Amino acid sequence: MSCIFCKIAGGEIPVAKLYEDEDVVAFRDLNPQAPLHFLVIPRKHLAGPAAITAEDERLTGKVLRVGAEVARKEGRSDFRFVVNNGPQAGQTVFHFHLHVLAGRDLTWPPG
Ligand code: 5GP
Ligand code: ZN
Repeated sequence: MSCIFCKIAGGEIPVAKLYEDEDVVAFRDLNPQAPLHFLVIPRKHLAGPAAITAEDERLTGKVLRVGAEVARKEGRSDFRFVVNNGPQAGQTVFHFHLHVLAGRDLTWPPG
């Protein structure tokens, strides 16, 4: 499997993990864009949000819950969730991931 996030989920590539269980892994982004910037991924390979099917609804909902819980554990009440789909939107890794950013003023709309 050549997917880098599948390798992270499988423990083949070391990351700074903030949370993991049988369904999801949360880890710090290698190239942080805010004082707190981590990713939450499902262990199951989904190419991105456009690949979500009805059977993944519970899993992708859990990704959101874990993102909020880890942000709170890291002491952040204000945060932003970002999920990119496709290169024009900035997606570079084609395994569904939730970005969680916090700790600085975030502009709206995003660039
Ligand atoms: P995307 O641009 O696809 O929405 O986000 C991919 C994110 O994954 C980027 O923010 C990038 O910094 C992060 N990333 C890519 N490879 C690695 C890695 O090997 N380890 C970690 N911790 N983050 C990575
Ligand atoms: Zn994958």
